[in-house]
Amino acid sequence: MTETKSTCPYCGVGCGVIIESQGPQITGVRGDPTHPANFGRLCTKGSTLHLTAASPVTQQTRLLHPLHRSQRGAAAQPIAWDAALGMAAQRFAGTIAQHGPDAVGFYVSGQLLTEDYYIFNKLAKGLIGTNNIDTNSRLCMSSAVAGYKATLGADAPPACYDDVKHAQCLFFVGSNAAWAHPILFRRIEDARAANPGMKVIVADPRRTDTAGMADLFLPIEPGSDVMLFNGMLHLMLREGWVDADYIGAHTTGFEALKALVADCTPERVSAVCGIPAADLATAAQWFATSKATLSLYCQGLNQSSSGTAKNAALINLHLATAQIGKPGAGPFSLTGQPNAMGGREVGGLANLLSAHRDLANPAHRAEVAALWGVADVPARPGKTAVEMFQAAADGEIRALWIACTNPAQSMPDQATVRRALERAEFVVVQEAFATTATAQYADLLLPATTWGEKVGTVTNSERRISRVRSAVPAPGQTRHDWAIAVQFAHQLEAHLRPGAPSLFPYSTEDADAGAEAVWNEHRESTRDRDLDITGLSWTLLEANGPQQWPLPEGASTGKVRLYEDGIYPTADGRARFAAHAWQPVAEPRESRYPFALTTGRLRDQWHGMSRTGTLGRLFGHVAEPSVQMHPDDMAQRQLQGGDLVHVTSKRGSIVVPVQADTTIGRSQAFMAMHWGSEYLSGQSSTGGRLSGVNALTTSAYCPTSKQPELKHAAVKILKA
Ligand code: SF4
Repeated sequence: MTETKSTCPYCGVGCGVIIESQGPQITGVRGDPTHPANFGRLCTKGSTLHLTAASPVTQQTRLLHPLHRSQRGAAAQPIAWDAALGMAAQRFAGTIAQHGPDAVGFYVSGQLLTEDYYIFNKLAKGLIGTNNIDTNSRLCMSSAVAGYKATLGADAPPACYDDVKHAQCLFFVGSNAAWAHPILFRRIEDARAANPGMKVIVADPRRTDTAGMADLFLPIEPGSDVMLFNGMLHLMLREGWVDADYIGAHTTGFEALKALVADCTPERVSAVCGIPAADLATAAQWFATSKATLSLYCQGLNQSSSGTAKNAALINLHLATAQIGKPGAGPFSLTGQPNAMGGREVGGLANLLSAHRDLANPAHRAEVAALWGVADVPARPGKTAVEMFQAAADGEIRALWIACTNPAQSMPDQATVRRALERAEFVVVQEAFATTATAQYADLLLPATTWGEKVGTVTNSERRISRVRSAVPAPGQTRHDWAIAVQFAHQLEAHLRPGAPSLFPYSTEDADAGAEAVWNEHRESTRDRDLDITGLSWTLLEANGPQQWPLPEGASTGKVRLYEDGIYPTADGRARFAAHAWQPVAEPRESRYPFALTTGRLRDQWHGMSRTGTLGRLFGHVAEPSVQMHPDDMAQRQLQGGDLVHVTSKRGSIVVPVQADTTIGRSQAFMAMHWGSEYLSGQSSTGGRLSGVNALTTSAYCPTSKQPELKHAAVKILKA
């Protein structure tokens, strides 16, 4: 038996695993006791990784050979790799020649490794000259990115996992960490047991498992978070709980914020948020006066039409009370996906460039162009996720390359996304699994390696970079994601810059050497940036294990906690308060659509279930899809548990069993995000076939982060 250290491919906790293998078979997995994210622990998803790899369902659903469809709807036929990549290059080059570089788009994934992300970004922005590259991280963390940048000056989570044991007050908001980040939650439970004086506040429309540990539970109305935070600040000011010295020495913009929150009185907050004024006062007091307050937050803040405002309003509270830059204190965004952080580091979003540079900044574009050896990086803003599929549906983007993600299930307003995939003239899907909803639309299917086979790095929520290692050889004709992108780039260079030296001089024969060369180039791009890792190498990761950034040349370890000196990465070194007034959700409930539908994760499933859905035991916790409603709402509609109901929004409708649930309030409903067409079918408002909860959700997005409001839609619920 061989043992290989790697990282769990599911959530942003980033647990270390030891993979056991015999020849080409993965035979076991256990937690890595030396990994600082989990110290040997794994949750139900991580501890069954080997079973999902060996599952007979996985054997049937893996994509192992390149496939081509002569026309949409036809059966996909095998094609050789060279022919497939040659065809892709010819189609992309033809589209670019005829319609310009912005007629193509790349939609990638927070599941990709940092090296994969780096190459795709360079391919789009460096070789092709389009910024039309975005990722499903847009659906995950872009509001957190925008919130950090607007207030602290850089996209850098300041806290770390160890802070949970130093905290005296934990403020969970928009996060069911007990299910979404289980191993971090175990650490929180341990910290609580060791420190009975710790206060826990949970703000969430649902009384989740996380709320089960709360000393104070705030069942806020969906989308009312900004009002909650501004109301807490109003009380902190009134009671003298803000830290005037810290505000004066380390921040700007407080007067404007003070004026903004003046009318966020407890009475008004109580009316908008639906919570007692006394509970608001308790929350404000605990947050401001505890020795150390740590906020833990996730998609409840991010997946919102006011996502940036929600993030910034929470960070305002930390700055106003000096609950930042010390052990146990700070705003701490929990990353949804395993490598949404790494993608942000290499600039793998339509508005970013390598190493936290901004596309809108001419100096940043020049730096990246020099690094890549190209004349320039285009200034034209790229299309973000929702914009990209809308542009494809409108015929503006004609060729799409989709890697390691399933937008036909996971994007909001599924009807528009499917129309985009139908209208696009050429769709490449690079995937490990052949059966995703998106794969049905592919002209070309390119088989990629997956967990246990891949080589590279990921970064978790606490800025910690870990190695991903291959335990078994790539099966069939699968190739690594970064290597596929490099080989496509080589073919495309023959069309776009014939005779010129390649911009992609990495070996795809030796996967370890090639991936390390890509990572080394990324490392160099971070020099003198906030995430500088010029002191790190794969040799050091091998010797010392996972490391946090920044770790600049000359440093021996990474930085555990940021801003301990009170100096922020802004022009004047001061953090900035951001004054945002509360805005209601994009689609408030109304008489025709009287329920506020919220969405979220299950404990034992991951994303669209390509991997977790292959294992029966992971259905033990929740066996089938349902919509949850308050029992009083069910009684009023003469519904019994198990009855089939139509859940209908302005965009589509699905049929699903209803279940009584007292963890949600009246006039609210909840559905899990995972179930796809195998479990849950529906139709669009114009009659097309759809699947899953995103038949219902809205693509309305935050004007700053462009992150869509996947968390909320107005629906009606009627007996089927
Ligand atoms: Fe994997 Fe997240 Fe579970 Fe850790 S907590 S084992 S990273 S799914």
